[in-house]
Amino acid sequence: KIVVLDGYTLNPGDLSWEGLRKYGEVTVYDRTPADKVAERISDAEAVFTNKTPITRETLEACKSIKYIGVLATGYNIVDVGAARERNIPVCNVPTYGTAAVSQFAIALLLEMCHHVGEHSQTVKAGDWSNSQDWCYWNYPLVELDGKTMGIIGFGRIGQATGRLAQAFGMKVLAYDEHPNHELESETLKYVTLNELLEKSDVISLHCPLFPSTEGIINKDNIAKMKDGAMLINTSRGPLVVEQDLADALNSGKLAGAAVDVVSAEPIKPDNPLLTAKNCIITPHIAWAPKESRKRLMDTTVDNLEKFMNG
Ligand code: NAD
Repeated sequence: KIVVLDGYTLNPGDLSWEGLRKYGEVTVYDRTPADKVAERISDAEAVFTNKTPITRETLEACKSIKYIGVLATGYNIVDVGAARERNIPVCNVPTYGTAAVSQFAIALLLEMCHHVGEHSQTVKAGDWSNSQDWCYWNYPLVELDGKTMGIIGFGRIGQATGRLAQAFGMKVLAYDEHPNHELESETLKYVTLNELLEKSDVISLHCPLFPSTEGIINKDNIAKMKDGAMLINTSRGPLVVEQDLADALNSGKLAGAAVDVVSAEPIKPDNPLLTAKNCIITPHIAWAPKESRKRLMDTTVDNLEKFMNG
């Protein structure tokens, strides 16, 4: 018995779950509210989740579970410790979205630098010359060539983002718990977190959410950043203390921020970033081009096959 708890986000209808069907009886729910999780997987043996949390309580209640597939790279929605205690493997899909997420991080950066959306809307509203004035005053354009991008978490997505930044003529400073010095070059250097904070014009977050990284962008670390720096977060919302970021945007300490992820998703109406100055927010979609969703689903099937084959 195989249950997909929230298949809609991955496959709104343009792909197929057929691959899973050869391994058992498959039930795909579009979405599952928290209070229905245990009921829906009470007799399931393999469970798949994209964003629906699987808690210790759920694992205690659902004794038949033998395998959990996370339809994503970040696996913080599953209580992995509780799964391990029960010898249930938790399998994520690490590489499907490297190109998509790094491209999105750069899209957010370019939007902060060019405000294409704002200008297009202003022109369509009949305000050609106002839009031209705004590119000096309200929405100043920024050139990236020669600037420095700091990347916190220099793994797959971080490195791919670094390569794209270098293509724009940027220098890259990387901070990672496990540096791979072979990657260093004239335009790419590993540094300490403090040096990265102090020297970067743009900081992009690509580390996983761990207790050691939660709140890594906080008041104290923002104070170390350059005045007028920009922040991108396509990793996980809780890496950022959102009130501290909102304060820094509203005071003008930071020139802009663009986040694809927030502390609680969907975003709560009182999230301070909703009203912060120069803050772009997208609804956790960096991973979602059809190409990467297909890669994710194919790898999910491969992983289950490997598990079934021992
Ligand atoms: P990865 O494992 O290849 O890279 C993560 C890097 O972070 C590693 O090099 C690791 O050494 C480093 N790291 C771990 N702890 C650290 C710490 N305390 N300080 C500094 N560096 C640390 O993972 P990836 O494929 O590059 O993905 C990165 C993150 O992107 C994921 O954890 C996930 O949260 C996020 N993500 C978001 C989306 C989206 O749609 N927005 C999609 C996929 C992944």
